[in-house]
Amino acid sequence: MPVYEFRCVDCSGFELILPIGTAPDVATCPSCQGDARRRITAPNVSRTGSSAFQLIDAANRSAHEPSVVGSAKPGVRTGTTQRYTSNPLHQKLPRP
Ligand SMILES: [Zn+2]
Repeated sequence: MPVYEFRCVDCSGFELILPIGTAPDVATCPSCQGDARRRITAPNVSRTGSSAFQLIDAANRSAHEPSVVGSAKPGVRTGTTQRYTSNPLHQKLPRP
C-alpha cells in the first residue's frame, strides 16, 4: 500500500499507509487532532541501490568488461573424477 503524506497547519507532517484511492484530502492530525491536508509528493520508484539494480548493472558491465579468472575456484579439485552418486548400480552405466 502507498504512503500518503499529510501536513498539519499547527504541527509537523505525518504519514499514513492507506489503500490506493482511499486517501482523503483532509485527515485528522494524530498530535493535535486538527485538520491536516494531504501533500502531493513524488512516488518512490527509484531502483538505485536495490539488489535488482545491482544485478542489472553487473550484467551490463560484464558485457563490456568481462572479469578475468586467474585461478580455479577454491575448493574444487582438478584431475580427479568427482562421484555424484553412491549407488553401485550407477557405476555400470556407460561413461562419455
Ligand atoms: Zn497537528
